[in-house]
Amino acid sequence: MKASNYRVVPLNSEVAAAARRAAEAGAPDHVYVTADSPTGYPCRHCLHWAQPGEQLVLFPFASIAPGRPYSETGPIFVHAQPCPVYEANGQYPPAFREGRVIRAYNAQQDMIDAEVVGDRDPETIIEKLLANPETKFLQARSADRGCYTFAIERA
Ligand SMILES: [Zn+2]
Repeated sequence: MKASNYRVVPLNSEVAAAARRAAEAGAPDHVYVTADSPTGYPCRHCLHWAQPGEQLVLFPFASIAPGRPYSETGPIFVHAQPCPVYEANGQYPPAFREGRVIRAYNAQQDMIDAEVVGDRDPETIIEKLLANPETKFLQARSADRGCYTFAIERA
């Protein structure tokens, strides 16, 4: 396999651990949910779908930090039990090849482009978006609900 020119960035392990602690402490914005479908609850840390019956923590995550026009905080899941962080950083996560949109942001964290993963595979879209020198980083999100899934940086 040829080396990719990008790096998949899952949710930071410290952020995942803090979310688990907050849920355990009963924070009102960190709640436990139990997966009831095989493709409804993506864990942002291991980048796998939680399987039915598995417990997750649902909490708000600032995918674009406050202070910018495109600042954004939205709901994400992580497994309630510690899970291994996604490590195949040069490879697009196999679990999320469908139902995603890839957004491109510039160095000021302004969204400059977006494409739905559909007819074309995600690698093709990533290559196209990164071909724009203005693109600083990408975000993969769910195509229907818009929820942040993971980031992509230049390798
Ligand atoms: Zn997980």
